[in-house]
Amino acid sequence: MESNKPTGAEIRKTFLEFFEEHGHTIVPSASLIPGGDQTLLFTNAGMVQFKDVFLGTDNRPYTRAADSQKCMRVAGKHNDLEDVGRDSIHHTFFEMLGNWSFGDYYKKEAVSWAWQLLTEVWRLPKANIWATVFRDDKGNIPQDDEAAQAWHQQHGMDSSHVLFFGRKDNFWEMAETGPCGPCSEIHLDRGIKYCDKQDVPGHICRVNGDCQRFLELWNLVFIQYNRLSPTELEPLPARHVDTGMGFERIVSVLQDVDSNYRTDLLWPLIMTTQELAGYSDEQREQNFTPFRVIADHARAAAFLIADGVVPGNLGRNYITRMIIRRAYRFGCKISLCEPFLARVADVVINTYGDFYSELKRNRKSILISITREEEQFQRTLDRASMQLEYLLNELEKSGQNVLTGAQAADLYTTYGMPFEITRDIARERGLDVDEAGFNRSMEEHKLASGAGKAMGDLGGEDVEFYRHIVTNLQHQGVLPEAGVDYDPYSRLEVGGRILALIQNGISIDQAGPGDEIEVLLPETCFYVESGGQVSDTGMIVSQDGTWEMEVQDMRRPAAGVIVHVGKVSKGHPQVGDEVVAMLDVQRRRDIMRNHTATHLLHAELRKVLGEHARQAGSLVAPDRLRFDFTHPEAVTPAQLAQIEAGVNQHILGNYQLKINYKPLQQAVSEGAMALFGEKYTDTVRTISIGGDHPFSYELCGGTHVDETGDIGICLLTSEGSVAAGIRRIEAVTGRKAYELVQARFNTLNHVASLLGSAPDHLPEKVSSLLDELTAARKLIVASRQLQVSAEFAQKLQQARLVNGVKVLAAKLGQADVDMLRQMADRFRQQNPLNGVVVLASVTDTRPAVIAAITEDLTTRGLNAVELVKFVATPLGGGGGGKPTLAQAGGKDASKLDSALEKVESWVSEHLKG
Ligand SMILES: [Zn+2]
Ligand SMILES: [Zn+2]
Repeated sequence: MESNKPTGAEIRKTFLEFFEEHGHTIVPSASLIPGGDQTLLFTNAGMVQFKDVFLGTDNRPYTRAADSQKCMRVAGKHNDLEDVGRDSIHHTFFEMLGNWSFGDYYKKEAVSWAWQLLTEVWRLPKANIWATVFRDDKGNIPQDDEAAQAWHQQHGMDSSHVLFFGRKDNFWEMAETGPCGPCSEIHLDRGIKYCDKQDVPGHICRVNGDCQRFLELWNLVFIQYNRLSPTELEPLPARHVDTGMGFERIVSVLQDVDSNYRTDLLWPLIMTTQELAGYSDEQREQNFTPFRVIADHARAAAFLIADGVVPGNLGRNYITRMIIRRAYRFGCKISLCEPFLARVADVVINTYGDFYSELKRNRKSILISITREEEQFQRTLDRASMQLEYLLNELEKSGQNVLTGAQAADLYTTYGMPFEITRDIARERGLDVDEAGFNRSMEEHKLASGAGKAMGDLGGEDVEFYRHIVTNLQHQGVLPEAGVDYDPYSRLEVGGRILALIQNGISIDQAGPGDEIEVLLPETCFYVESGGQVSDTGMIVSQDGTWEMEVQDMRRPAAGVIVHVGKVSKGHPQVGDEVVAMLDVQRRRDIMRNHTATHLLHAELRKVLGEHARQAGSLVAPDRLRFDFTHPEAVTPAQLAQIEAGVNQHILGNYQLKINYKPLQQAVSEGAMALFGEKYTDTVRTISIGGDHPFSYELCGGTHVDETGDIGICLLTSEGSVAAGIRRIEAVTGRKAYELVQARFNTLNHVASLLGSAPDHLPEKVSSLLDELTAARKLIVASRQLQVSAEFAQKLQQARLVNGVKVLAAKLGQADVDMLRQMADRFRQQNPLNGVVVLASVTDTRPAVIAAITEDLTTRGLNAVELVKFVATPLGGGGGGKPTLAQAGGKDASKLDSALEKVESWVSEHLKG
């Protein structure tokens, strides 16, 4: 690349600085995992992080923003996977440059700045730039004269280059209803030589003419309507600008290359792959598809893992797995048959790490995760390919061309062959795979494996039943519209009148001792299990003291309905009774300690292991806490020690917890940790710990201690793996931690008294005992060897000469197999020529046999393997080895003596010459 061309990093910087100079706030890219948006697998456009601003449910401290947003298009409506590798423009991961106005500037400024940046800063020839604006092909929405006029006013804009297009090209909608508006696209004419359709009859070379000559560079969206229905639009009070420019594309233009893959963003990845494959430039050009796929997938994998999406079986994690495996398979096509992708991903980190620091921070886990995933796939790929080849052959034989979804699902669940790879291979043979059928089969598989069971809990009649009860109470005016007043934060007991009693799904008026019932009160302070924190337990007692009930669990069977679940321990509860409901306070305090400790642990994990260590599951119980998080490998003892020390330092710091309620977007943009897959309301509760510069800041509805010092102490009790890429830490705090320390002390003291030592001196004591033990064991072995040696010397005198060959076949009482071999060697040392020895022993009723023959006899028809088999066969065993030394085992020791007696005659029978 010539040095006067700007680098990709410079181009990105120029874009952001240009808009910063025009009053925009530079906003960091949001994570690839869309925060709080359950409908989206990945962030797939720049506007995702601003969606709520356009919807009017959120606002920001700025009205102008610019960013470079990380995007993935690999699943769902926007799925570019199948095109990646085939052409020079599609990617799974890409960057989108954008500038934004939230009710601030509008079309005039947006157009003028776009023109300035392209033609003055980047010096693209004005004569080559075209703009499209909106004219409704259905004639219902006014045409966008405002934008057209803005274009005509640009100095040097050829007025014939401003074209009108209809809804398909120039009207943008977020969804079927909601914010929408006309857009204006900027196209660059790269010259007739870029037209790839000159030979296509009827091709008109023009903007939106579907050839490579006119490149769509930038889309300026003007949000000015709210769509109420397919036919109704209303003007929005505040109008917005949302622009998007494909980063790779503008870089390819400014670096004057004909493919995104030949920019300095992706070319280093291709060069590294070429070097690893040992290909020449010609070989690379002839077989370019694998190079493109590998470059694209290595980049996507690195960015995904940096955002915590490690390879796995489901959802987003599946995508990471799939693209790594797919890249691995494409590697095989260019003779890269060993894990290699981490080497390419390392170059991704070097190329992008300065701007996206999460790559550098997580370098180690990115590289390890990728290699581990390739290794896993490598183990099954051959078998999976063979099975797939077989299925495809059968398919062809039967004259069909679509592999069933069940077969593809089976390939994935049995061999780890992702659907997309199965489809790649099928298509390489002109066949296809039933994708809908695959998804159905995977659903069934999930149900069969129990993964979908939780669905049943909240379904059907249960909900209707409770809604019915609550609606009645609301009509009577005894229960507010919002349902039961739920406040587990400020009180430990509440009073009230029983609104309903439920037993076995039936509403009852009165219960008796031993009955298991549910009690509905107008308000409660009992926590209902959520966010991993278990439900509270406690007591309900009647004001008049005539009855009592133990509360064992809490349930929220329908929205607004919370019931206390438990057993009547005395008396007869009745609907309408005045009661007091009291928490088991000690248990609740234990839970609060564990919950706050969980937040401290989460913060320390991220500090010590890296930001990829995200919560993947959690249990906050009174006796322990359990925390699952994404991390590709075992946490080392040194890291665990560091994490535990950090948590306890925060406890000793005795920080006050700050609890606030604020809009979700504000909390998220302030950096509060939200849980993926958790549904949040517009207003969220945040917990921050650490004063003005909190080290922990989470969205959380749980109950917490007031100050971290209340936790007392936190001890990590275990660390392990729960699934691929997910680790689990368990810990105890407060009373349980004290019990644990006490128990350990007791054990230590007991051991010390057994050993007659002080606890502090145990290490030296134990190691000196171990030394003694080792010495004693050596002594035993040596003395046994002496015994065996003596026995051998004695037996040696029984050796007989058979045709000039010295033959010894004997049992050595005390010997193990090693000693038998040593004695056989000794025999051969003493008799370097003309010697045959068979030695045997019996350990725990099982016989072992060693046979050795001097080298010279192997040319005279003797073979130790045959000999040892001859001896071991009657013992019910077999054996093997070399012609000069062989070994065998057996089952029946009673035949050993007679087998040994026959050795002499075996030798005389087999000996030749
Ligand atoms: Zn053309
Ligand atoms: Zn929490």
